[in-house]
Amino acid sequence: MRTEGFKYRDQWLPNYFPSREIAPGRHLRLSRHGTTQILTPEQDRQLEEIFMEDELYERLERTGHILTKTNALETLDALKTWHTLTYRGPALHIVVLTKRCNLNCTYCHMNPEHIGASPDVFDMKPEVADAVIGFALSSPSPFINFEFQGGEPFLNFEGMKYFVTEAKRRAAETDKRIDFCVVSNLMLVKDEQIEFCREHGINVSYSLNGPRELHDLFRRTRSNTGSFDRVMKRIREIQEKFPGVLSTSPLCVIGADNAKDLIPMIDFYHEQGFQGVAILKLKYLGNTVKTDLGFDIREFLKYYIEALDYLLEKNKELGASYSERMVRVLLSKITGKFDCGFVDWRNPVGDFGSAITYDYDGHILPSDEARSLRHEFGLGNVLDQSYEDLVQRRETFKSMNLSLRDRDSTCRECAFNPYCGVLPVLDYARTGNPAPVPHESEECIQTMALLDWLFARLEEDPIPLFRMLPGMDDKLVATAAEIDAEAAGG
Ligand code: SF4
Repeated sequence: MRTEGFKYRDQWLPNYFPSREIAPGRHLRLSRHGTTQILTPEQDRQLEEIFMEDELYERLERTGHILTKTNALETLDALKTWHTLTYRGPALHIVVLTKRCNLNCTYCHMNPEHIGASPDVFDMKPEVADAVIGFALSSPSPFINFEFQGGEPFLNFEGMKYFVTEAKRRAAETDKRIDFCVVSNLMLVKDEQIEFCREHGINVSYSLNGPRELHDLFRRTRSNTGSFDRVMKRIREIQEKFPGVLSTSPLCVIGADNAKDLIPMIDFYHEQGFQGVAILKLKYLGNTVKTDLGFDIREFLKYYIEALDYLLEKNKELGASYSERMVRVLLSKITGKFDCGFVDWRNPVGDFGSAITYDYDGHILPSDEARSLRHEFGLGNVLDQSYEDLVQRRETFKSMNLSLRDRDSTCRECAFNPYCGVLPVLDYARTGNPAPVPHESEECIQTMALLDWLFARLEEDPIPLFRMLPGMDDKLVATAAEIDAEAAGG
């Protein structure tokens, strides 16, 4: 019954997920290792039939959407490459230098202590720092990134100096490359502390929640005053005196009280000269639970998608490449050979496998969100646990395993499976059940909405989106020059 010009289903195995119509007559197919194909309805239908045209077979063989005798080994290598960062060992090590903070933001999920609380109790001690460094350097990852968090990490600046000096000294005895960053509210940080960061290449990131009235809604001191004026003043001073130390895209948390103002917020960041923003929905943890600030994901997405459309139009109008972090993360998945380094949006998630959090007292957690959920996700203390012991225990990978999307039959049939990123720790916080339920879990709903938006916009006009990727402007200019040169030559 075979006919020339066709390949039959005994000549290949499927390595793709079901299709999704991303625009009229345009069907997306993702492979297990993240490559994309956009097919016509006619082509897409052939993947559900007993034979396909040679031409389509060759195309799908090239991208590894089908496994054949010819490409099987190469495709397995591509799968391994896709998961490079998943299995290479923890690279991100979040170190909580202190639980004390000068602020008490309404959405904070860290349960911070008062600035006047005892440093002896709530700051990381040198013996804990030593154990954290040893634990982190035991990771097989060739790159180790220490991220200092708090509370406000600069409140334990002596601890930071000790940590950086010791980590550098001990890393020099290995073949690992280490670097540092710090997340601060910038209000109390002194020039000599920023100078230390500059000297040691420590990138400083910070939150700025829009213009004054919106920022001050959330980011408040213990005496219940706003923090905007002080933060903006420090941002400007630091940018001027220490160019390149501050991150160029502030973090911005969105709840019910500021969601409707997202568009003016985009304008505000743009006017202030930032290169982008990271828009985050507030997490149902810590103060958000105490102050009942919960916010429905569908409501958030309505405003978020509207804001992304606005941002995109603004970029087109101005020829700018102002970006949003999650859009950048997903674009790098779509264009990259390996899943990106963003540990919170991966299948499986990076909990312990790619990132570890060490609380101020040395307690080990699979993610920073798990800090207020030690009873459920705590993994013991660096003072009496070794990396080698923990990495062999199944329990260590509880949240990572629960995030694996091949566990669930609905997810096995989801077009977006390889680009998905659920967070069992947040599911547990919201529902008491750490197993993400497809189409109910907030991260599932967000994955589907954002990817539907992104692929539809890519179909309309990919250039303004690709320009959001770092370095992409140069590549686009080079490609345009090549095309021009070819046209002139031909
Ligand atoms: S959780 Fe949702 S988006 Fe993720 S694979 Fe499952 S169905 Fe798809």
